[in-house]
Amino acid sequence: MRVRWTRDGATWRLAFRLDREDAIVGTVTDGQPVALATNTCEVRLPREIPEPHPDLLATAAWTVIAPWTRRRLRFDRPISPELAMAFAGGWGVEAGPTAGTPRRGGRLAISYSGGADSVAVAELLEEAPFIHFQRVSHPRIPNRWTHYRADVLADLAAETGRDLTVVRSDLEFTLAEPRPGYPEHHAVAAGALLLADEMDLGGLAFGYELGSRWLGGDRYILRYTPDNPMWAPHGAWGRLFEAAGLSIVLPMGGVSEAVTMRIALDSKLADQVRWCLRGSRGAPCGTCGKCLYKELIQAAVERRPLDTTVTAKRPVARKWQEPPPYGGQEMIEYGCAWVPGIQKGPFAKAAEHLRATPKSVGWLERCYRPAVAEIPARWRKRIEDYMALEVGFMNEDEARKVETWGQTCGTAAGAASGTAAGTAAGTAGEAADG
Ligand SMILES: [Zn+2]
Repeated sequence: MRVRWTRDGATWRLAFRLDREDAIVGTVTDGQPVALATNTCEVRLPREIPEPHPDLLATAAWTVIAPWTRRRLRFDRPISPELAMAFAGGWGVEAGPTAGTPRRGGRLAISYSGGADSVAVAELLEEAPFIHFQRVSHPRIPNRWTHYRADVLADLAAETGRDLTVVRSDLEFTLAEPRPGYPEHHAVAAGALLLADEMDLGGLAFGYELGSRWLGGDRYILRYTPDNPMWAPHGAWGRLFEAAGLSIVLPMGGVSEAVTMRIALDSKLADQVRWCLRGSRGAPCGTCGKCLYKELIQAAVERRPLDTTVTAKRPVARKWQEPPPYGGQEMIEYGCAWVPGIQKGPFAKAAEHLRATPKSVGWLERCYRPAVAEIPARWRKRIEDYMALEVGFMNEDEARKVETWGQTCGTAAGAASGTAAGTAAGTAGEAADG
């Protein structure tokens, strides 16, 4: 793969050319096959910036081109030998040319989507600036997803009153199949990578929670994943971002979506929380799969009946009529344990299968300590103190629930689940969290 960045004012254009061994159908780090639509995209920053360190440009490019690259990576600007080592170690890709030294940065910013998970992060990191990714159309690809209201999410982010940088990009249209979306989950950080020198960033906080980090992640389910290649600090992506001087930080990595939902609903930013990309300015759509899944969690957190018009017969509820395993199953269990009247409606069948009780889901209300231990030392104490005070840590039995996740259920551990309700971001394009 050959990579070139050019700039026109505040707009950065990425063009890439496949080598003979590359292919237009590739695989995302989580295993999802993806097909390439086009070989150009751009990232529009809100202001002109000095030339970023080449390692930042290279890492930003990699978040787009990784699925389609097999063996070699040629950049237009030399990268540090340290970054080249991260490519070799993580993907077996020989990257170059190499020259120069790595970069370092100071501050921590938040990759802010506006979903409950990232609002929870914002509540915890009160002074951290937001960087918000906004999808825009691609000049060469027709946009058949005009019902995706990325503009609404950007407006809601602005209403928070926080220090906000909105980055607009058409990079999701490099993906033809399964539909426009991030080629890799980390592509949401493309703008933050380009801005990292100018904003003196040393870390980027994402909303990814316990399920995404430790219980399997996005499109695969029911498996304890200490070595998660996307989000573990020692995974391929963790080491690459570290080499580029922008650590991946998961302040909510130790807590479930029940906890992030509670923090978000209690937050000063509660009015701006939005996980649905299809809603209007006033409200989420209320009928998509994500709205249904999040309504289950919210109802469980508020210990009230489900408020939805979605019936068991609707396509978005179809998977809950089947036996488990489910994507995001821990939260389905939590919902079935706590929502009064769950025996009727779209989750009735799931509740029958899962037989969850408030006691069996208690572990999902506390923090898994190893998630705090892997936060870089310079930002750890704040997060550790918050978890100790506001959430509390899991005891040994509860931590064992995390570490045996997928083993006791027996079925389909790690199986692909193309429509996992827990899908947080990435190629599925419903990128409201993380
Ligand atoms: Zn919706």
